[in-house]
Amino acid sequence: MLLDHQNIEPCIDLNNRSKKNTTTESDIHISPTGIPICPKGNEMKPTGFDISQDRRKWRCSLTCGYSDAKYGRTYHTHSSDNLRLFPRTARGSEKWKLIYKRCTSIERSNKQEKIDYKFESGRHRSTMMWYIRIYGIMTCQHMYAWYVSQKDEWDKLKATICPTVA
Ligand SMILES: [Zn+2]
Repeated sequence: MLLDHQNIEPCIDLNNRSKKNTTTESDIHISPTGIPICPKGNEMKPTGFDISQDRRKWRCSLTCGYSDAKYGRTYHTHSSDNLRLFPRTARGSEKWKLIYKRCTSIERSNKQEKIDYKFESGRHRSTMMWYIRIYGIMTCQHMYAWYVSQKDEWDKLKATICPTVA
């Protein structure tokens, strides 16, 4: 998977239309949001991510009472099996929220390039021209973002320098 190789976290929201747990080769089931469900039917708790093995460890909650082992059942989810279901960054964590926020803003920016700045209306034949087009669009986006961030100050300045214009 390309995303995997480039070490980029995909932040595709889960399609939660499915309400069913999925089965695994063991007696553990996986909830639609990627949480293992132990044989007693309880959600397991994440207990850390092992980078070298690329897997997250899960364990029965203290109150679960599943007693096959001293500390209840443990289970590992491997991110390479399903990056969407088993992200390396814990879903819902602060880091996850940050990445997610960044993703939606990138999506918004892509949408702006495509629709507002009519990226696809270009009729260029060479890759170089497409690059020039996207650089032009990105320059516009930066100018606009700069303008929005400074607008209040500029308006104040304008009012001081030439009161009649303002
Ligand atoms: Zn349990």
